[in-house]
Amino acid sequence: MRILVVEDEEGLAESLRRGLSAQGHWVETAYDGHRGLELALSGGPYDAVLLDVMLPGPGGHEICRRMRAHGDPTPVLMLTAKDGEHDEADGLDSGADDYLTKPFSFVVLGARLRALARRAGTAARPSTLQAGDLTLDPGARRCRRGERDIELTAREVGVLACLMEQPGRAVAKRDILDEVWDSPDAIDPNIVEVYVSSLRRKIDTPFGRRSIVTVHGAGYRLAPDGG
Ligand code: CA
Repeated sequence: MRILVVEDEEGLAESLRRGLSAQGHWVETAYDGHRGLELALSGGPYDAVLLDVMLPGPGGHEICRRMRAHGDPTPVLMLTAKDGEHDEADGLDSGADDYLTKPFSFVVLGARLRALARRAGTAARPSTLQAGDLTLDPGARRCRRGERDIELTAREVGVLACLMEQPGRAVAKRDILDEVWDSPDAIDPNIVEVYVSSLRRKIDTPFGRRSIVTVHGAGYRLAPDGG
């Protein structure tokens, strides 16, 4: 996805840019409301816009209102440090699609962006995820190691996609559960181990590779080079 991030806390803006880029998104950043408004109105098209509420110059609500006034339907996710109901109502009144309170995790941000993109009818996940010679097309449920096709179940595809979307990062079992299972609260996160084991038997062991690394106390990490 092409994403515009307007955030005046440069550290947060930079970490958003790095994190979203690592998930395969193309990211443009603005550090104040004037530049943000300029890019939002004429820099795109973007697939999603992340707007901080409190900005030097026009704030997030104002930028969003101006986008909507120009007939721009790009999904907008408002970011704010405040969590009062009043702010949320403000955000939605200005035409924002969703609202996220800082601090937030990348997993939650990623899920919200995918939900926005789904609603907007654009493809959120890149059609094919790649790590070295390991490729996965989650939509087509097609996995390959080099030239060899690997049969995966829908759940295995979900777990692997979760890891491949964030190569090199430790992903917690709980986050995988939240992403892949429909009613994750009722399920023991250790079920994820079962799927990781079966994935290893399919994508690693037969090839003498080790792509899914256990990070003790943190979860699992996919080797960006495919192991
Ligand atoms: Ca701010």
